[in-house]
Amino acid sequence: MWIALSVVAPFGMLAVSGFMLFDLRQDAWERAEQTSKNLLQVLERDIARNVEMYDLSLQSAVENSRAPGVAEVDAKLRQLILFDRAATARDMGVMLVIDERGDIVADLDAMPPRGGNYADREYFQVHKSRAGLSLYVGRPIVSRLTGERMLPFSRRISKSDGTFGGVVLGSVKLSYFTNLFRQLDLGRDGAINLYLDDGTRLMRHPFNEADIGVNIAVSPTFRGFLREHSGSFIQTSVRDGVERHYTFTRIGSLPLILNVALATNEIEAEWRAKAIVIGSMVLVLCGLTVVLSLLFGRELRRREAMEAELERLSQTDALTGLPNRRAFDTAGSRAWEQGRRDYAPLSLLIIDADHFKRFNDRYGHQVGDEVLKGLARCLSASVHRPNDLVCRVGGEEFAILMPDTDQAGALRIAEKAHAEIATLSIGSTGIGAGAITVSIGLAVVIPSEADSTSMMALYRFADAALYEAKTGGRNQTRCARSQGIAAVSQKPQLLIVGSA
Ligand code: GH3
Ligand code: MG
Ligand code: MG
Repeated sequence: MWIALSVVAPFGMLAVSGFMLFDLRQDAWERAEQTSKNLLQVLERDIARNVEMYDLSLQSAVENSRAPGVAEVDAKLRQLILFDRAATARDMGVMLVIDERGDIVADLDAMPPRGGNYADREYFQVHKSRAGLSLYVGRPIVSRLTGERMLPFSRRISKSDGTFGGVVLGSVKLSYFTNLFRQLDLGRDGAINLYLDDGTRLMRHPFNEADIGVNIAVSPTFRGFLREHSGSFIQTSVRDGVERHYTFTRIGSLPLILNVALATNEIEAEWRAKAIVIGSMVLVLCGLTVVLSLLFGRELRRREAMEAELERLSQTDALTGLPNRRAFDTAGSRAWEQGRRDYAPLSLLIIDADHFKRFNDRYGHQVGDEVLKGLARCLSASVHRPNDLVCRVGGEEFAILMPDTDQAGALRIAEKAHAEIATLSIGSTGIGAGAITVSIGLAVVIPSEADSTSMMALYRFADAALYEAKTGGRNQTRCARSQGIAAVSQKPQLLIVGSA
């Protein structure tokens, strides 16, 4: 059971480790998502605040343009009036007031205003055709005044009768976004993107000239951005085929969409390295545990088998292969118990080779051994019940224990033994049939007392009967005699059956 447990336990360990690794992976994802969210929030605030500031400047210029007599005052004064609340900042491009024909009437950075006609600009056309529009964010343009890339923000000037009176334009240098995103490290395949809501990419970090102005409106990624105000999803980029986790948001109520994209591969990279190390270590340890447990189990079984074999050998006589004296004692007590429970007679034959010393002396010890083996064979052949036990109890002395066998039955077995032995010959030595004889002492008892010394008493009676067989001329069987009964008559439960 312990071995089975130690084989099963590693699977438990595997399950726990698997769960832990899964949990670590979740953590990695949660961390990445949180980082993206925080980053997005900071960027969104910065951009929204700046755009709001620019828009306030535009709004004030629109309002001031409606002040009575503004058109009539001299250019210097007009500039002061129009831009009295205009903010200036490092990333601000130009700020212009353009009349209904497209000509610059006021320029925040130049006095007199720089020349130029903007009637062809998209924002101009849009405001001209759509009266109700508030702040309009156009596609990136290259400034005609400074040659820099700009994002144009514009508001319409409406005359008092509601007709188109021109445009106030404020532009933000795209470098503002470059500078804003530059400090951020998002890994090798991470990116930050800013889009117009028509799908035009305004900026990308890491910066690549070719990315700016590209329209990705039809890509599944961009469609994902349009579904909600803000959110996150995983998508494979159409730009480079890298699978990324996108966190996106609209910037305030502006038509701008900002996203932070992390490569899923990089989100899991650290976790994967750890998982490989931990996973393989756990696998190796579990494998080792299972293998060692199996080896240990095999060793245990080998030992058990060895012990069983030793146990068998310790109960067996090496020369004849019969059970030995120790086995006889064990079997004797058991048979005694069984006989007592069943009130069944228990018979014992003690068989001793006659003049065995002579065989030894004449033919040598080795031949003596052969005779003993022959005797063992003959005795084994004389019994037929599975519970009958033939043992070698001493040098040339054997015993046959027969449970549930009365005196008549035991005598029959003794006679069978004499007959078998009469046929025994040892071929090569000249010991012919009939040369080997045995004397047998027989005792029968119905066990009635739970006392192991009683078994010894039975043995003594059989031994006494054997002595009688010897003195009576050998090659015969004697049963325990009446004085044997007398010897144990103090123990009335022990009943000795039979006589000489
Ligand atoms: P008896 O008829 O009175 O029994 O005469 P015996 O010679 O058989 O009796 P004794 O007890 O004097 O001799 C037994 C002999 O058996 C003595 C011993 O050398 C021999 N013997 C005992 N064990 C072995 C054995 O394992 N192998 C051999 N070859 N001889 C053994
Ligand atoms: Mg003897
Ligand atoms: Mg003998």
